[in-house]
Amino acid sequence: MFNLMETNRVESLHIAQDHKTGLRAIIALHSTRRGPALGGCRFLSYPNEQAAIHDAIRLAQGMSYKAELAGLELGGGKSVILRPPHVEDRAALFEAFGRVIESLNGRYITAMDSGTSSMDMDCIAQYTQHVTSTTQAGDPSPHTALGVFAGLRATVAARFGNDDLTGLRVAIQGLGHVGYALAQHLHASGAELIVSDIDQGRVELAVEELGARAVAPEALLCTPCDVLAPCGLGGVLDHPVVAKLRCGAVAGAANNQLATPAMGDELDARGILYAPDYVINAGGLIYVALTHQGRNSHDITAQLSHISQRLSEIYAEAQAHKRSPARVADSLAERLVFAD
Ligand code: NAD
Repeated sequence: MFNLMETNRVESLHIAQDHKTGLRAIIALHSTRRGPALGGCRFLSYPNEQAAIHDAIRLAQGMSYKAELAGLELGGGKSVILRPPHVEDRAALFEAFGRVIESLNGRYITAMDSGTSSMDMDCIAQYTQHVTSTTQAGDPSPHTALGVFAGLRATVAARFGNDDLTGLRVAIQGLGHVGYALAQHLHASGAELIVSDIDQGRVELAVEELGARAVAPEALLCTPCDVLAPCGLGGVLDHPVVAKLRCGAVAGAANNQLATPAMGDELDARGILYAPDYVINAGGLIYVALTHQGRNSHDITAQLSHISQRLSEIYAEAQAHKRSPARVADSLAERLVFAD
């Protein structure tokens, strides 16, 4: 465990249990140098405890990088609650988790993530104020979509020489909370949409409302387009997929798009400009962080503009040093997170 913490430069790891509710939780704080560590709470079943610890540590590091490159005064953390086969009293379990978070005295702020809902966050909020994405705080997805839209424009400017989206062919994988809102922004800017979703209803809506062209989910990734926007699941860019992409750039919302770090280099070698996912999809984090701090919508809009600025910097450095944007983003984040 210490080796894993050392490799990922994790500051601390907190393990808690509550006999009465069956709570078994892991909280990884990657860094609190810039401010409290903010990051979601997962509620999933894991094959073993080691896998849960690994997930918390890996994701906490990603949150530090995301916060840093979004220009937020925050560190990165993540929590994992091991989902038991049978949940007796879900509310009581999350209330117990709220007491654990409170015991960290504000070093960790939690939020909704895979397997948790805003109602779970409401339960946590009964015992601590260090929680975001409650039902009162609102859905961050529209802000994620706005950030991705601005970042996609910056990516288009870097790849094609200007940021005019008129007639640009954008293929969107996944028309959920973020993907559909992104499609709406792109449509309003004159882009041509190519879409896929495993939910046929979402696809039909995009065809009717936005004049999108529907493509089968298995065909989308190799459909010719200018920009591919993965907005469904993570891990979509593996070696066979990267080899058959027919786009000029990849800029989408999905977390952990690269199956391995080497995929960033493969995209680069193929002349496909990749917008590092944790940079372009930081709009939701910006929204929850600033809302939690009581800041207004003007501040949120101003902070969202960091996304496209940061991407432009990354692309310029990548070009100057002949490195992939993914590598440049990782090095920059690491440098900034651990700067004295
Ligand atoms: P969502 O669940 O609302 O939407 C995902 C959509 O993708 C669904 O409509 C689903 O049917 C579709 N989908 C799943 N597999 C697919 C496949 N193989 N082909 C085509 N479509 C497929 O999720 P969301 O909130 O829109 O988030 C989308 C992605 O962005 C996720 O990876 C998420 O982690 C990431 N993200 C979201 C936010 C946010 O604010 N919601 C913030 C940062 C990152």
